[in-house]
Amino acid sequence: MSILYEMYETVIGLEIHVELLTKTKLFCACSTAFGGAPNSNTCPVCAGLPGSLPVLNRKAVEKCVMLGLALHSDIARCSWFDRKNYYYPDNPQNYQITQFYAPLCTGGYLETEGKKRIRIREMHLEDDAGKLLHRGKKTLIDYNRSGVPLIEIVTAPDFSSAEEAVEFLRKLREILLSLGISDCKMQEGSLRVDVNLSVKPAGAEENGVRAEIKNVNSFSELVPLAAFEKKRQVDLLAAGGRPVQETRGWDGRTQTTFFMRRKETPRDYRYFREPDLPALALTDADIAAIRVKMPKSADAVRQEMMERFGISAAEAAVLQKEPSLYALFCETYALQPDPKRILNRLLQEGTAILRKNGQTWEDVRMRAVDFAALLELGVSGRISLTTEKALLQRMFSESFDPVAYVRSQDLIQQTDEGELMETARQVVADNPASVRDYLAGKDRALQYLTGQGMKALAGRADAKRLQDCIREVLEDLT
Ligand code: ADP
Ligand code: ZN
Ligand code: MG
Repeated sequence: MSILYEMYETVIGLEIHVELLTKTKLFCACSTAFGGAPNSNTCPVCAGLPGSLPVLNRKAVEKCVMLGLALHSDIARCSWFDRKNYYYPDNPQNYQITQFYAPLCTGGYLETEGKKRIRIREMHLEDDAGKLLHRGKKTLIDYNRSGVPLIEIVTAPDFSSAEEAVEFLRKLREILLSLGISDCKMQEGSLRVDVNLSVKPAGAEENGVRAEIKNVNSFSELVPLAAFEKKRQVDLLAAGGRPVQETRGWDGRTQTTFFMRRKETPRDYRYFREPDLPALALTDADIAAIRVKMPKSADAVRQEMMERFGISAAEAAVLQKEPSLYALFCETYALQPDPKRILNRLLQEGTAILRKNGQTWEDVRMRAVDFAALLELGVSGRISLTTEKALLQRMFSESFDPVAYVRSQDLIQQTDEGELMETARQVVADNPASVRDYLAGKDRALQYLTGQGMKALAGRADAKRLQDCIREVLEDLT
């Protein structure tokens, strides 16, 4: 980008709609299932027939409150619904029921990985519109989606780049998924992102006039979208023009935005309170009850794992992604509380074994009791590391008791500390030439002495432990 574009900063705010994973719609008992036969999930309420009356779905309220709690928002003890009036064929009531004057959640924030705090302005419940299907000259209407519960999340204009916005969206999606609020499938429209973008001279206090851009189909489109839109607005300003508030569309094919309409104002929508619904009142006890039901966030789960097991964030992330691996880890830990060793075997050796066998963690047959027993054999020095690894490999595909196996195959190595020391003394006494070499600083001599000791023990010793004993004997000589 040329110097002209560097003289301007980008300012972005997001408006995000998520479809909720409730079984039924926001104001009627119709199913929210995606992909049913057109108009099969409809009733007088969601088809907008006169005289029908809405009834609020308690589960949708719960999910919005959970999100509010997760993002540190204020949860309104009294909120209500409003009608947003507009005519469009996918909107059979001629109004959308939303929360304009008193949203359920206000304020709050979400921190990006880079520890930037993005402020949430508000989050509210509203119902979705139907879908128009354009077939040649005809347009067909499917009202299955009409009335599906949505949460709209409005951020403050706190992003200074598309990359930052993407980071936020990934984090938000993780929260929505782990709380079971939405499946967040952009392809099926259950997560929709509108990007508000303006530019201002670098360092300026006041924000510029923004354009709102719709039709974003994936997070990765945000970067080219922001690049195009920044250029368009800066070019306009540089040519002496002034951006106006407008709604634009993103065309992924040409990687450009195009004008759709001038920005509507709240006046255009003639918002007024929905008369068919009572106010939504929540007591502290209601909110506390919802809080108890909240599954822990992925972040919180990782944090807990790190504290409980003393493992790294990366290790916790791997365990979190693989439920079978995590279950095996936990069961083994209960028997052999040595998280470092367990993880070392599972993540280092285990991952390599899986790759070699073309297996996943779900395929692993090994029982935690057997794995713990194997680790114990290694810790106590009764089998060598080589034997341990070989057995681990076998235990991934067939389950057996390693203790019985090791006994039957005569794989127990010399373990008695006294006997190791005895052997070490013997080796030192029998090889004066090597001892002299070692004392003269030749480290190779130690290898030789260890080899002699291993030979004397017919290989049934932990070479490292034996070497330690020999070194100890040698040090006593000096
Ligand atoms: P309105 O009330 O006109 O709808 P809001 O203040 O509610 O505007 O903001 C709507 C969205 O636009 C929010 O996501 C907000 O972050 C974003 N936004 C507001 N002003 C700007 C701006 N100057 N540049 C970029 N985004 C903005
Ligand atoms: Zn219905
Ligand atoms: Mg607004």
